[in-house]
Order: sequence, then C-alpha cells, then structure tokens
Amino acid sequence: NYPDIATPLRTQAIMNQYGINTKKSLGQNFLTDLNILKNIVSAGDVSKNDNVIEIGPGIGALTEQLARAAKEVVAFEIDDRLIAVLDDTLAPYNNIKVINQDILKVDLMAAVQENFSDPSAPLKIVANLPYYITTPILMQILESEVHVDAIVVMMQKEVADRLAAKPGTKEYGSLSLTVQYRVQARVAFNVDRTAFIPNPNVDSAIVVLEPREPLAILPDNEQRLFSLFKVGFVMRRKTLWNNLITAFGKNGGMQDKLMDALEAAQINPKIRAEKLTLEQFVTLQNTLTDAGV
Ligand code: SAM
Repeated sequence: NYPDIATPLRTQAIMNQYGINTKKSLGQNFLTDLNILKNIVSAGDVSKNDNVIEIGPGIGALTEQLARAAKEVVAFEIDDRLIAVLDDTLAPYNNIKVINQDILKVDLMAAVQENFSDPSAPLKIVANLPYYITTPILMQILESEVHVDAIVVMMQKEVADRLAAKPGTKEYGSLSLTVQYRVQARVAFNVDRTAFIPNPNVDSAIVVLEPREPLAILPDNEQRLFSLFKVGFVMRRKTLWNNLITAFGKNGGMQDKLMDALEAAQINPKIRAEKLTLEQFVTLQNTLTDAGV
C-alpha cells in the first residue's frame, strides 16, 4: 500500500526532487490520472500469470500499476536521467526490472528469454508510447518472432484511428492494412491531453492489438504485398487503376498484365483502394504475380 506515483502533485514533486525537466524530443509526457492507468491495465486484462514489457516507463506511473497486476514487468527506458528516479519510485516492488536501453535496439525475443523468470508465461506489451516513434515501435513488435498475447498502447488519436480503420473510411490506408494483416486492432478509449504533465499538443487514444484469425488467403510475397498497400494509396483520390499505372508503368504490355490481374482478382479498376478489403489486396498481389507483373 504505497502512495501512487500518478497524481499531479506527486509527479511534480518527483520531478522537482530530481530536477527533471521533460524532454520533448523523447516524447516525455507523464500520465497523472490514476483512473486512466487502471483502465489501461484492464484493457490488457493483465493478470498475475502475465509477463509484461513496458516501453518508456518515465517516472514509473504505469510501471507501478502494471507491477501490481502482473507477474513480472520489464521496462525499457532510453533516458538515463530517469533510471535513478525509477530506482527510487519503484523500490517497493520486487517484480520490476528497468533496463536503460533504446527500445528500437532491443531484440525482443532475446529480451524475453533473458529477463523473465518464466519466459513461457503469456506476454503483454503495455506502454504510453513516445509518439515520435509510434510506427517504428509497432512495426518492430509486429515483425518480431516473439508471440505477444496483447499489445496495449497509448498513441496520438489520429494514428490510433488509422490503425483500427475499416475499409471505406477516410482513415483507412496502408498503415491500417499493414497492421491488420498481423493483428486485430481496436481503439479502447480516448484520453484527454489534460491527463499528462506536460500536456501534449495532440489528443490521445489507447489501442488494443490482439492476435487475429488466420487470413483466408495468403500472399505469395509479403514484401510485395506491403508495397502494394502503399501503391494503392499513393494518391488517395485517384482510382486504383491510376495508382497501379503510376507505380508499374504502361509500357511493354504492362497495361494488359495489370488488366488481367485485376480481372482475375475480380476487382473493378475504377474503384479507389480505400474500398478494398485486406483479402482483396492479398488476392490482387497474387494475381499480379500470376500475370507476370
Ligand atoms: N510511462 C510513462 C507515463 O505513462 O507517464 C512515460 C510515458 S512518455 C509518453 C514516453 C517515455 O518513453 C519517456 O519516458 C521517454 O523517455 C521514453 N522513451 C522515448 N524514446 C524511447 C526509446 N527509443 N526507447 C525507450 N524509451 C523511450
């Protein structure tokens, strides 16, 4: 029963005590709303069976709530000024390990093996992300071989909406497709900027990413599929056909090949990519290969 870190008063007191002025360049906005922290932990359904990796513990506000709910927490913090602070604020907990490292340089698979006492326990990744590297961090996790049972992350609301977007909406694009290819994504709740010290100048949201149903059809080449997601949305307002021609060119019978691929995939060349489902993109990738594109 230790006092919570996450109150505006205690956060300010800790920052004063250690002379910490937050660095905008590291995306340092500390959460000071206990309810929001508890809702983040609930959104991940974190229990005493779970290992948790946290990215960017800051002064430990979320880390502490995670430690109370989880089996063990391993937290990666890049800012060495905060390591001494965390040593102090998290002293009451014996199931937390703080590592002074840039998360983008961490081999997640090795980190799990080395740092948790039971590496085979369910793994959750929970974080109030540094917003300047939201997408690289997500890609690193999604591309890792490590099995993650849930990813619960705070990010800029605009990015959250893009991750969870459905076909036919203005938020839907290559980021939605790249993420939804690997996991199912939903926005759990929005967070007001007043919940942080200092207030960020964007609105935020919590996104939950969980394992998805296997795809009905698999691509013959993932890298080409990911490029195709980008090709489709190079110019959002243009037709799929226009964007394909721009990417692949018109010469050497390319128009015929593209037409064949679209016909085989039963996709109307005049639609916009924002109408295409993930499965349609996968089908198109495969028919493009078959047509020799
Ligand atoms: N978890 C704390 C909270 O909720 O109050 C702090 C969140 S703050 C938005 C982001 C944290 O990520 C900061 O502590 C920052 O120093 C850290 N950070 C920034 N870049 C990082 C990186 N590349 N690797 C690890 N941590 C990073």
